[in-house]
Amino acid sequence: MAESAKETLLILGGGLIGLSIAYELAEQGLKVEVLSRQRSEAAGFVAAGMLAPHAEGLTENLLTLGQLSLSRIPTWVNKIQSHSGINCGLRHCGIVVPFLNTSTRDSYPTAPFGQKLNRIQLEKEIPGIAPQWQCGLLFEQDGQIDNRRRLMRALEKACVGLGVQFQEGVEVLELIHSSKKFQGVIIRTAQGEIKELERKQAVLCSGAWSNTLLQELPIFPVKGQMLSLQGPKDALQRVVFGPGTYLVPREDGLIIVGATSEQNAGFTEGLTPLGQRQLQNGINDLLPIANQWPPMERWWGFRPCSPDEAPLLGISSLKGLWLATGHHRNGVLLAAITAELMKKCILNQPISNSENQILIAFQWNRFTKSKKNAKVMNE
Ligand SMILES: Cc1cc2nc3c(=O)[nH]c(=O)nc-3n(C[C@H](O)[C@H](O)[C@H](O)COP(=O)(O)OP(=O)(O)OC[C@H]3O[C@@H](n4cnc5c(N)ncnc54)[C@H](O)[C@@H]3O)c2cc1C
Repeated sequence: MAESAKETLLILGGGLIGLSIAYELAEQGLKVEVLSRQRSEAAGFVAAGMLAPHAEGLTENLLTLGQLSLSRIPTWVNKIQSHSGINCGLRHCGIVVPFLNTSTRDSYPTAPFGQKLNRIQLEKEIPGIAPQWQCGLLFEQDGQIDNRRRLMRALEKACVGLGVQFQEGVEVLELIHSSKKFQGVIIRTAQGEIKELERKQAVLCSGAWSNTLLQELPIFPVKGQMLSLQGPKDALQRVVFGPGTYLVPREDGLIIVGATSEQNAGFTEGLTPLGQRQLQNGINDLLPIANQWPPMERWWGFRPCSPDEAPLLGISSLKGLWLATGHHRNGVLLAAITAELMKKCILNQPISNSENQILIAFQWNRFTKSKKNAKVMNE
């Protein structure tokens, strides 16, 4: 095995998080190889693309992480756009959360970050909103990006431009390790060959499937079904984020509707009549007129969830193996900060006190182990 091949860092999973990290590291001159079982199953091609730490009502460390990422997104996206030549469809369109009454609005976890709307103001922001919604919160700082059609593709193209190697249709079957040290992976190639790749470092970012490679990771799938509608021109300017259903208007009038949240579905593939009815009822409850707009596409995917619905970032129990998984319903939002933190860990770059605190807060073993004296760097 040539020493230089061993030095290539493996990205185990070519979804949104894997591509974001590959891009960040390749930009720093690192040799990176992405191993991807199936491009189309990545949640990065499923998500609605909301950038919504406030509209989602995130709290504590996850809110901090989300806000940090949101602040980095414009620069991050600009960089990807200029490397790839693809416009990623970033829209600072604001997100409106409707409420049935002012007391539920005012007790929303992120209410202090939003602008209070009464019924008249709510109707102005979301023309046609159903009458039961009496008030709302407008989070102007939240937005969206066209992950399915643009961001994923732009990341792939930018990565290739920076020399990242891709292996599509390759399944990582097993991690090789000895004395708590990562040593490589066993893969099955698209042509069915079983091979060993000897490597010193890898990032495990296999989304909802992460714990099939490392069983100690408490990651499980939460299935989500989606659909899109073709709305009339300028029908909706802002994202509307109701309880259980949201509508995300793209620039070209396509409206992404999401999403079911099915914990018991496991990895069961496909649309279900129940899930699709739930979306239709959700549209009726939120914006009844939208049920007259023609459906364009229906799809589903699996969110990588952890027990506290927050990601696992940084070191693993194996030296040389890094973790970036469990981003659940906020992986698009969190991709920018995840890539930046992972770059610093992997390249052993200086990290600030607050970054250190974040890495401790999102360590993989936080569910089982005292956080005291936790170390966040692998070397
Ligand atoms: C319905 C839905 C709506 C969402 N909406 C939003 C939203 O509006 N905003 C937001 O911020 N986030 C949203 N998300 C969440 C976001 O999509 C995810 O958090 C994010 O995509 C996770 O990225 P990932 O790279 O970890 O996983 P993925 O994008 O799922 O990629 C994982 C990849 O790993 C590969 N893989 C798995 N196992 C192996 C193996 N053994 N060998 C090789 N490859 C392997 C898979 O083939 C896959 O391509 C949504 C998710 C869903 C499902």
